[in-house]
Amino acid sequence: MKERETMKEKKQSDVAVLLGYAGSYRGLTYLGLALSAAAMVLGMLPYICIWLAVRDLIAVAPDWTRAAGIERYGWMAFASAVGGIAVYFCALMCTHLAAFRTATNIRKQGMAHLMKTPLGWFNANASGLIRNRLDGAAAETETLLAHNLADIVGTAAMFLSTLALMFAFDWRMGAACLLAAVVSVASMFAMMGGRNAKLMAEYQAAQDVMSKAGTEYVRGIPVVKVFQQTVYSFKAFREAIEDYSAKAEKYTVGVCRLPQAVNLTATEGAFIFLVPAALLLAPGALQSGGFAAFVANFAFYAVFSAIVSTALARIMFAASGTMLAHTALGRIEQVMNAPTLEIDPNPQAPKDNGVEFKDVSFTYDGASVPALSHVSFRVEPGQTVALVGPSGGGKTTAASLIPRFWDVTDGAVEVGGADVRKTDPHALMNDIAFVFQNNRLFKASILDNVRAARPDATREEAMAALEAAQCGDILAKLPNGVDTVIGTEGTYLSGGEQQRVALARAILKNAPIVVLDEATAFADPENEALIQKAFAKLTQGRTVVMIAHRLSTVVHADKIVVLDAGRVVEEGTHDELTKANGLYARMWADYNRAVSWKISA
Ligand code: ADP
Ligand code: MG
Repeated sequence: MKERETMKEKKQSDVAVLLGYAGSYRGLTYLGLALSAAAMVLGMLPYICIWLAVRDLIAVAPDWTRAAGIERYGWMAFASAVGGIAVYFCALMCTHLAAFRTATNIRKQGMAHLMKTPLGWFNANASGLIRNRLDGAAAETETLLAHNLADIVGTAAMFLSTLALMFAFDWRMGAACLLAAVVSVASMFAMMGGRNAKLMAEYQAAQDVMSKAGTEYVRGIPVVKVFQQTVYSFKAFREAIEDYSAKAEKYTVGVCRLPQAVNLTATEGAFIFLVPAALLLAPGALQSGGFAAFVANFAFYAVFSAIVSTALARIMFAASGTMLAHTALGRIEQVMNAPTLEIDPNPQAPKDNGVEFKDVSFTYDGASVPALSHVSFRVEPGQTVALVGPSGGGKTTAASLIPRFWDVTDGAVEVGGADVRKTDPHALMNDIAFVFQNNRLFKASILDNVRAARPDATREEAMAALEAAQCGDILAKLPNGVDTVIGTEGTYLSGGEQQRVALARAILKNAPIVVLDEATAFADPENEALIQKAFAKLTQGRTVVMIAHRLSTVVHADKIVVLDAGRVVEEGTHDELTKANGLYARMWADYNRAVSWKISA
């Protein structure tokens, strides 16, 4: 397994990472951003027209009718306002198109990556959650690419043009307008930057913990009801809520109160610096005789300060959008960093259907002790080998290594003399049928569930497999027989029934190697007899590795391998092992005692 190299990417900004996913749509994003900047500049033109109109009016005052250019300025203002909206619309079209494509690319690349991920990984990471995580996170990046970036670029363009305009009109009043913006941005930084960034991160982390604890709580509701408990028994959830409210208060009241007040004042009232500046400048303008120009300039900036407010509000939204995208990208990265199985470019073909463990050791990711250490045993083609041992001994783990749910940490698992890591994964999957503890039946018809093993199988073949798996009674009681969709119309199958459908699936697959885990774990006696029959059909003439809790089913195995704490402690036939007086003999004695208890009871 190889972890994806992320060192380089870690240093990239979120936008760079997103544009990386955009692929050929990157250009469209740039075009959208350029159009957004153009729209902003166009949007400023009406204000200049107002300035021109005011200047002309003042020049001819009080004889207003002599101001001939007013109508022209009006139309120019109108045209540039409409033009600005149209260009902004085009800009958003471009950025949206690019953003949707980027999200699609993220989903596609994520899925492509997950296809190479070992199946065992999905047991630890529920597949529904992964899909949600990828899907939701991809959607959350859309706002950044579609809106926020365009707004950030547009606002930057606006501030740059304002700087230029400052020299065209009155730089002192322009500076007063910009001062409001500077104060607002500075107060935003005061809330989110430096020392307070840590507080904000803590607050967000607490929110995360609380929502996770909430999910746990909802999952635990059946337990709460059964045991007559109250919400207060969910200490973790309660503590998470209390921790969140403490952190939220610490951040909002302790840090944000003053800067946010300053920020809102500066944003909403961008003229607060303009009016005092104008009052200071007015006497000088009167004296120098340039009072008309002064009034025109003041009119311009008074109206103009409104766009400063809008622009600042947009930056605020953009800031929160950027944070959202940042956490979304973190979640996407988690999926993209899932381990992948290495695929050999020159795969080996198995020579026969034997299975061999050669000094296999395996440690789960993050576990401190190995689940298997130095396990060696061999299953000849056509043999049935049973893995037994106390719970946690490593039976399931050993079985999962054969179809490459995980790759060994040390040693090798071989199928037909070829290391499973060197075989073609598709061929390997075709060669092995597995029925595991947590058989998943899909929310689909029984027929489709069985056919999942071999989609090209005919209906007749699927029916034959169901019959071989003793599913006749299940089909008979379902409203639409084999076409009944599981999970609808109140059709739920019992554990034992699900096992039999899963066995039918494995039978249809017709693979030469069969791996079975706890096939009889939750069967009632009636089901058990049927499962045993289905099981006999499935294993006929095949190589079988099976894990069974009822030792009666392993008595006839060609070989029994006893696993305890990840090591092979005994190996042999039932007769040999019962005579050896070891762990198996003790388990066998316990098992018989349990059975005789049941009979006497
Ligand atoms: P058995 O099937 O014999 O009961 P398992 O193979 O399920 O035993 O487990 C062997 C050991 O590996 C146990 O200590 C168990 O806690 C650990 N283990 C099993 N699955 C995982 C997993 N997904 N992640 C970490 N540890 C695991
Ligand atoms: Mg197990």
